[in-house]
Formats: sequence, structure tokens, C-alpha cells
Amino acid sequence: MGLKDQRNKADETYMKENSYRANKLLSPLTDMQTIISFFELDGSLVYVNNTLLQAVRLEFQDVVGQKFWDCAWWNYDKKVQRIIRQDCEQAVGGKQIHRQLQIYTFQGLHRITLSIQTVRDQNNKPVYLIAEGHGIEVPRQLEGGYLEKETFYQKLIDHLNVPAFVINQQHQVIVWNQACEILTGLKAKDVLGSTQHWRGFYNTERACLCDLVLDDNYHKNKGLYQSHQVHPFAVDGKKARNWCYLPIGKKVFLDIDACPIRDNTGQIIAVIEILNDLTDQIIAQTALHASEQKYRTLFEKSADAMLILENDKFVDCNSATVEMLGYKNKEELLNTHPSQLSPEKQADGMDSYEKANKMIALAVANEGHRFEWDHMRKNNEVFPVEVLVTPVTFGENKFLHVVWRDITERKQIEEQLQLVAHYDVLTQLPNRTLFTDRFKQAVAHSKRSNTLLAVCFLDLDDFKQVNDSYGHSAGDQLLIEVSRRISQSIRDGDSVSRQGGDEFTLLLCDVFSHVQCEQLLKRIHVELAKPYLIEGQVLNISASSGITLYPEDNADLDILLRHADKAMYQAKLAGKNKYHFFDVKGDEEHIKKSDLIQRVRQALHNNELCLYYQPKVNMKTGHVFGVEALLRWIHPQTGLIPPLEFLPQIENTDLEIEIGGWVIQQAVKQMDCWLQQNIVLEVSVNISSHHLQSPFFYEQIKNALAHCPAVDSRNLQLEILESSVLSDINFISHIIMRCQDELGVNFALDDFGTGFSSLTHLKNLPANTIKIDRSFVRDMLCDPDDYSIIHGVIGLANVFHRKIIAEGVETTSQGLVLQLLGCFHAQGYGIAKPMPAHDFSLWFIRYKVNDLWISFSAKDYSLVEKQLVLLHLVTDCWYETILQQLMTVEENHNCCGFEEHQGQCHLGRWVNRFKEEKVFALVADKSFEKKYDDMHLLANKLIQLYQAGNFKAAKSGLEAFKQCFEKFRQSYLSLSL
Ligand code: C2E
Ligand code: CA
Repeated sequence: MGLKDQRNKADETYMKENSYRANKLLSPLTDMQTIISFFELDGSLVYVNNTLLQAVRLEFQDVVGQKFWDCAWWNYDKKVQRIIRQDCEQAVGGKQIHRQLQIYTFQGLHRITLSIQTVRDQNNKPVYLIAEGHGIEVPRQLEGGYLEKETFYQKLIDHLNVPAFVINQQHQVIVWNQACEILTGLKAKDVLGSTQHWRGFYNTERACLCDLVLDDNYHKNKGLYQSHQVHPFAVDGKKARNWCYLPIGKKVFLDIDACPIRDNTGQIIAVIEILNDLTDQIIAQTALHASEQKYRTLFEKSADAMLILENDKFVDCNSATVEMLGYKNKEELLNTHPSQLSPEKQADGMDSYEKANKMIALAVANEGHRFEWDHMRKNNEVFPVEVLVTPVTFGENKFLHVVWRDITERKQIEEQLQLVAHYDVLTQLPNRTLFTDRFKQAVAHSKRSNTLLAVCFLDLDDFKQVNDSYGHSAGDQLLIEVSRRISQSIRDGDSVSRQGGDEFTLLLCDVFSHVQCEQLLKRIHVELAKPYLIEGQVLNISASSGITLYPEDNADLDILLRHADKAMYQAKLAGKNKYHFFDVKGDEEHIKKSDLIQRVRQALHNNELCLYYQPKVNMKTGHVFGVEALLRWIHPQTGLIPPLEFLPQIENTDLEIEIGGWVIQQAVKQMDCWLQQNIVLEVSVNISSHHLQSPFFYEQIKNALAHCPAVDSRNLQLEILESSVLSDINFISHIIMRCQDELGVNFALDDFGTGFSSLTHLKNLPANTIKIDRSFVRDMLCDPDDYSIIHGVIGLANVFHRKIIAEGVETTSQGLVLQLLGCFHAQGYGIAKPMPAHDFSLWFIRYKVNDLWISFSAKDYSLVEKQLVLLHLVTDCWYETILQQLMTVEENHNCCGFEEHQGQCHLGRWVNRFKEEKVFALVADKSFEKKYDDMHLLANKLIQLYQAGNFKAAKSGLEAFKQCFEKFRQSYLSLSL
């Protein structure tokens, strides 16, 4: 601190001390109506009387030392300050100052007349200035201890936001502020001056807190209040709370504060009562409390154990927990980790401590977790509980709410249910569910040990009769005994179960063969067939069983059981007390077949079927007189499927009839279509035997023809397989006749010669045409037998006046031989392959007649000539075939020419035949036979070389063979065609 500052400080202290002294001296002036203040010649205030201080709400020490003109009451108005300062200076100079001024008091602006004059010492030297102010209206003094009218304090209280009122010594209300009016609805004017302030708060007259404070008898009347508080600062103040009934009809809970106001002597001159409405707060508190109470009660009274877990320790729990765990009070349980109330290991083998922590982590991660847990009571008894852990957050704090439920009973029931669920109640044998389980194990064992597993289905024979004749109780006894006998007959590792009723299923493991399996079953059957003594009566029963062997039958249990059941049914059909093995292959074929039937059905409905047409010609004239309609399946993925790949599978089904009908319809439509192109053809349609005999056959043809009336029904030929007519020849001939007579259609016997009784058929069936099977045609030049058959068939056809056609004609030679034999109608690849209808029209236009066939038929051959022609064709065919074989196919050891028949090759047989028929005698060259022998010998040699695999040697002899053949040929060439 500097010297100057020190001086100032000392001056200030001195001045203040002085002022206090002055203040004391001048105390009689204190409460005068006039404002009086003394100050030093430089303006520093020494004294200010109370009148001014009160008016400006300042304390003496607030102003002492300040310059008179700087004081707050001049409102820091610079102009005023300057004037006063000048006045003061002039006053020091001896001038009397009187000036009208405005002073700012707490209550507002007041006009005063300010006089300033000097106080002089004995030497008439001015020492102080004194200022007096007149005309200010200051708060009236507390006269006689009363606060009478509206005063400054009253206004102050009035402006408080808090409801408050004041009573005087006579308990009269002297202040009743606006907030109090609002709270109570009681107007100040209605209560001021009265002692009825209680009306603001109560229905009946009673003392208010302010009254008790005034009379100092609060303690005696404490009962008037619901609760009591210590006053926070006023020793003689009181604080209490009470439910009050306001005149506006409202019930409020008030916090009441009453403080006495004392005068200077300490006398209570008034009491102020301040009110605070706590109703909302108290209602909220009460509700909160009630709700807390409610939840606490729920927590406490819950039958389930409830706990609160914080930081992995229990911090609270209800009485159910304490009871459940067998403790005396909850304190014993608090602060424990869940694992401390549990056995060391849980039922699932987990360590309790680890499991608890894992479950807690799961509950936190998943916002709740439910699991089963083993707890331990205080007496070490372990019991299962179901636990639900839910994380809960209260503000900043995180807890886990844990609920347990004792599930001992549930576990016991579950165990019982388990038993019921797996065992048959009557026989105590495993039921289907357990059997399924055992099956899985047995399959695993079969795989491991590479042995068979027999799945058997066993059904008692005529068990119903036992029930009907001896009653259900006897039936039950019998089933129990049967179960016992089966169980005793099977080996360890095998199992038997009851499927229901009198059906049992068995699993026989470690089976090595069917025979061994049979032995096992035989043993069971023998045991079961022994007499039973039931309820005093002797009963006899047998069983039938079906077996399937896994993995030969590699299917799941359901299918295996179905197969065993099927086999069991076969056993029943075969007579009682039998067993039967399931035929895996047969079943697979059956499934394949039904699959295919389904696919063909779809093909028909998806328009994937169509007809191809193969021409039939007259070799003599070259005329194309007809076609055979042949079914094709144009598969969207695999393309064309020939009929023999799917027709045999649908044999004897309704689908076969449906498709047959469709084929007739299509063929007739096609005939109609060709008619429109002026093409008239005999169209043959193949008819299956099943179709022919179906009740729909006749109608189908009739309808097809009816739809196309332009078509001449005589041009529709129905081909029936000779081989399929065996079933009922009378019935079939009846159908044929009906169709011929009533519809005009004609029939052909297809594949003729392949049946067993062709003669019978020809005689009894009224077919119009005979169709020589292509197998005979194919080999007729190599095989004299086939030639003879064709020869015979043609002869028969002539005898019975039937038309004849040969199918499968592939070569000109075949056609020539057929003509030799008197068959002029032919069909075969040698003419054309079957083709779609739209290709046929073009083919038909472009068709070129086989000139050889025409010219051959134009000549008139004698029988002998015909023989020579045959010889020529046969040897040519033979030679061609051998050459072809020797030149090309090395792998194929057999061919037409090489096939041995009774020690001879085919040509050898032909030669014998020609010899017998003296054909060689016709030939001019007498060495003809010798030439044939040489050629034949060489051919045989080559054949042997070929057959021995010595292809090179065989081929090297080819030239010599060719020369031999030429020589031989020359000998009958004069007879050439
Ligand atoms: P199929 O009645 O004997 O018909 C003649 C079969 O011989 C046809 O075979 C035809 O393509 C074939 N073929 C014709 N000429 C020659 C030839 O020179 N050489 C050879 N190797 N084969 C020749 P595809 O069309 O495969 O028919 C086979 C069988 O299917 C038919 O034999 C017939 O029994 C049956 N079939 C065809 N279409 C139908 C039909 O619409 N309904 C019925 N029920 N059966 C049909
Ligand atoms: Ca045919």
C-alpha cells in the first residue's frame, strides 16, 4: 500500500469513527420528520438522520464518507450534483442556500426544499455544512407498536409471490397479500382488521400458526398440525404442515411458516405467516410412495424367488428366495455370487461359477435370458430352478432382476412323460418314438460293422378273433405274453417295439445273410406258435412277418417299415405263420414304372406325342397304297423316343387305352387331311390287346370316323399283334367282326409268324391282312428256315384268302425274294423310314419306284428259274456279308454268314436245300458243285482264321476267295436276272 493510500485509509477510518460519534450525539435528530445531514466542508458526509436513510432504504455506514452531492438519492444526475456542489461551496462562503430539488426515495420521487448552511466554531470559522430537507413523506414510524394502514412493508409483502399475511398483537389481520387472496380466494378487504384469518384455511374456527406464535403456545397445540418442522433461521419462528380446507372448496397441503416481528425492544408487534402450497408435491410423493409400496409388496409377496443382482452379487431378495434356499433371513444371502448358492457343477456339467457368468453376460447382451439352473439349499439339498434374468436400469445404476421358479415337480413330470413317450404302456416295450432312436443307432452299427440290419414287421394272425372270443382283457394278456416271448427270443442288441394293436417291429442287428435272418425269425415264430395259458384257457396264435434288409434296401425307416409291412402282407397271403422277404429289385422297377407312366401321361397332355408314317407299297406296280402310323414321343429335353421305350411300361393301363384312342383319332384326322390333298391311303394303326378288349375301343373308332365323315372307313386298318391275341380268341374275333361289320374298318394280324399258334389264329380271326414279321424278312436270305416260314405264311394267307404284306424290307433282294414267293406288298426302310406327316406329302410326290422290283415282276419265271434266281440272290447276299465282315468289323465274331447251324454255315444249308430240289442239275456247268465246294472250303478256312482272331491272315486270303466266288458265279451266270 502507498503512502497516499495509507493516508486515505487513515482518513477514512477517522472519518467513520467521527461519524459514529456524531451519529450517537445526534441521535435525538434521528427520527425527525426533516431530513438532516452533516458533512465536512469538502462534502464528505458525517451524519445522515434516519428519516433520510429510511426514505432511501440505506444504512448509515452505506453513505458515511461519501460526498453529499454524490449520494444515490440525487439519482447520479450530473447537473443536480454540480448544482449541489456549487451550493455547498457557496454555503461555505457564507451564503444561505434554499433550493427546490427532487429526491429519489424507495417510494418514488419527492420534491423537497433543501437548505444548506454552515456550522461555525468559536472563531466563526466554518467547520461543517448542514443540510436540511423539508417536504419528504417518509414511512410513518411504528407508533405504539401498530402497523396501521397500508405501509411500505405491507406493499412489500403484498408484492411477494408467496402467499402471506400479517396479524397484529390483537390477532387482527393487518396484511393479506395478493398471493394469499389467490390461494385462498378470500379477499383482503374481507379479512383485514378482523381476527378471522382462519377462514382462509379452515372450515371451523381455530388458531392459525401465527396465532400460536403470537401467544407462544405452539407446543401445547402441536396436535393441530400434521407435521412439524424446525424453523430454518428464526429461533422464535415456527414451521408446520397441514391439510387445509380453502373457502374456494379446495383441499390443499400447506407448508406454513410463522415468524414474529418485534419492535426495537424485542416486543412482538406482529406475526407474519407465509404459506407454501405443497399439494401437488405431496400428491406426487404419495403416489410415488404408493407405487413403491406396491412394487415392494409384489416383490416381497411373490411366490417366485426374486433377487436383484448388482456387480454379479445379490443386493436384495424377497422372502420366497430366503424360504426356498432354507435360510433364516435375507442378510445371509446378500453379497453372494449366484454360484455360492449352488453346487459346484451344474446338471449340464458346467462349472457353476462359469455358467453363472456366462448366463449373466447373455442376459445383458440379449436384454434378458432364460435358463435352467441347479441351486443348493442351506442344507446342501440341490434342486432345479428356471431362471429369468433381465437387465434393469435405474438412472445411472444398472441391475439385473433375477426370478427363479422351483421346477422340481415339472422335471419329475417331464421324466414321467419321457417314459410314457418312449414305452408302450401295456407291454412296456419301446414304442415307435424310441424305436426310431434305436433304428438310428442300429444303422450306425450296421455301417460300422459292415453287417446287415433286418427291419421286420410282425403281425399276429387272427388276433381279432382272440379279442372277440375271449375279451379284451385276455387279448391284452396275450399281447403281454407275446411281447415277452419276442423279447426273450431276440439277441442282445436287437430290439422289438410295439407299433400299436397286434403289430410289432423288430430290429435284428449283425445279420450276415438271408439264411441267418430266416433262422432268427423262425425261432421267434416257433416261440410265438407255442400255446398260451391266458386266464385259465389255452390259446393258440401265430404271426406273419415281413423283412427287409438294410443296406440292400437302402432307405429311411419309414420306407423300410413300409417295405417290411408289404412283405408281411405277402406272408399273410401265402398263408399264416409265414415270413417273407421284401423284393427290393421288384419294388424299384415298380416305382420306375409308375414314374414313367406318370411322365407319359404328361407327355400326352402336353402334346409331346405324335405319329410318324411309314409307307406301304406294291412292289409290282410301285404304287404307294398305304402307310403305317407309328407313335413317337418328342421329348422336350431328350428328343425323339421310340414307342418300344415307353409303350411296354404302360401296358394294361388306362393310359394305354387313352393313348390308343388318341392314336386312332390322330390317324383318322390325318387321313382326312390327305384326302384334301387328293391322297388316298390305307392307314394302319397299331392296337394293343388291352386296348382292343376295352369297352371304349369300338366307340373310339366310331367317334373318330364320325368326326371325319369324308374318310372311307375301309381305308382304316387296325393292326393287332398276333402274339397278343392269345388271351381270348373268341372275344377278340367278336370285336373284330363287329368293327368290320358295323364300322367297315379292316384288320391286319401284325408280326405274323411270331405267335405259337399262327394257324389257329389265321383260321379263327377274321383279319383281312397278314403282316409277315420283319424278323423273318431280315434273315430270309441267310436263313433257309426264315425263308421257309415266309413261304409257309404266304401259302397259308392264300389258302385263307388273306392279303399279305411283308414288313422290314430293307433291300431290293428281300423284295425280289418276297415277290418270288408271291408277296407283293411291302413296308420297310428299303422303301422309306417312318416320317412325320408333313414330310410324307413331299416324299409321296418324289417317290421313285424300284425298277428292279417292277421289271422282275414283269417277267414270268418258271419254278426252276425262280430257284436259280433265289440261288443267285442267296449266294450274293452270303458273299457280300462275308466280305463286309472280313473287311470291317473285327470285334464282331458273329454274322449272318458265319453262324453255324447243325455244323453248317447258312450258305451250306442253302446249298443242301438247292441240292435236294435239284437246282444244280439245271446249271449247264457241271463243275458248278465243285466250284461251290472250293469256295465254301476257302470261306470256311477264312472264317476259322477270323474266329481265331487271326484277322490279318483272314484278310490275306480274301483275294483267293473273291476269285473262287467269281468262278462259281460264272457257272450259273447264264441264268442271271
Ligand atoms: P410294329 O408294329 O412291328 O411296327 C414296325 C416297326 O418296325 C416300327 O418300329 C418301324 O419303324 C420298324 N420298321 C419298319 N421298317 C423297318 C425296317 O426296314 N427295318 C427295321 N429295322 N425296322 C423297321 P417302331 O416305330 O419303333 O415301332 C415299334 C413297335 O411299337 C411297333 O412295331 C408297334 O408294335 C409298336 N407301336 C408303334 N406305334 C404304336 C401305336 O400307335 N400303338 C401301339 N399299340 N403300338 C405301337
Ligand atoms: Ca405294326
